[in-house]
This record gives sequence, C-alpha cells and structure tokens, in this order.
Amino acid sequence: MKLANPAYSRTLSAEEHAAGLLAALGVDLDTESTRRTPERMVHALQELMTPRAFNLTTFPNLEGYTELVAQHGIPVVSLCEHHALPFTGQAVVAYLPDERIVGLSKLARVVEMFASGPQVQERLTKQIASYLHDQLKARGVGVMIRAEHMCMTLRGAQAPGTITLTTSLTGEFRDDARSRQEFFAIAHEGRR
Ligand SMILES: [Zn+2]
Repeated sequence: MKLANPAYSRTLSAEEHAAGLLAALGVDLDTESTRRTPERMVHALQELMTPRAFNLTTFPNLEGYTELVAQHGIPVVSLCEHHALPFTGQAVVAYLPDERIVGLSKLARVVEMFASGPQVQERLTKQIASYLHDQLKARGVGVMIRAEHMCMTLRGAQAPGTITLTTSLTGEFRDDARSRQEFFAIAHEGRR
C-alpha cells in the first residue's frame, strides 16, 4: 500500500516505512506474531485518518420547533497530530434550530468526519460547531468534547484518567447568557 502523500516517499510503501520504524525501535519483526505488524499498523492508522463520506441530511423545520436539540455520548475517536497517538472520548452536540433541522443520526457522522486525524481537540471542537452552524443556519450550536489523550495518559505526564474538556459555542449559545447556561446545564447532565 503506497502512501497518499508522495512527499513522504516515492520508493518505499507505508508498510516498509512502518517496518523500518519498528525495527529501529528494537521490535523483532521476525516472529509469527509480529511479521504482519507493519501492515496492521498502517491499516489501523489509515482507518483513524480517513473520513467516511456522507451527506448531511437536513429537513425543513415544519413544526417550528425552536427549543434546544441535544445529543450526548457521541463517540470521539481521533489521532493527535502532535504524537500520532489516539485520543478518545465523547461529545455533546446541541443546536437551536431555525428553518432547518438535521437527521439525528447525522450529528455523530459530523463528529466522526472531523475527528479523522491528524487532529487536535481544540480545532476538532471548533470545526464541528462552525460546520453545523453554517449547514443548518442554526441560531446557535454548542459542542463539548471530553477526551482522554494517550500521549498524556500512557506516557509523558503519565496522568491516567485525565480528561481534557473543550467547548465551542456559536450564535445564541455564545451571545445569550440564558442559552449558554442552558447548554452547559444539559452538557453536564449527560456526564457519565
Ligand atoms: Zn499528543
């Protein structure tokens, strides 16, 4: 399998690079268990870096529903661009509808699309909020992500259980104190 970005190498495949890296780190690749590790490593990383295409289905807001719509527990699986290690967690996504509402299963797909690494949690949070704000022409969008970063919990600071929390608010959630309060109340309610 060749790398998509030709800047990396014109001659070596991603698997050969992975094998070279693992060997340089002292991993014995000549055992039954590790022989295909470079291949598996490349596939796993590619999966974390390749967004699945989808269409954001929106519908006219025929009932004139104006209150907050929120979803909890949306899985976040991404790849930290600083260490090429995963970070995983959960997102809360909420919006205040105007003329369009969104198919409910699509919010998780939006999170997944932007989570495809390399990423940083701060940018991810902001991208989801501004994308939904633009697509839905919503009165406001709020996104909160709680995630555990392997680069922090498994190494370096070695702080297992540390959760990084990021928030991005647009429109009324940002500008109106009551809406903002309502978002945070709902976001914390869903905490597990
Ligand atoms: Zn990192």
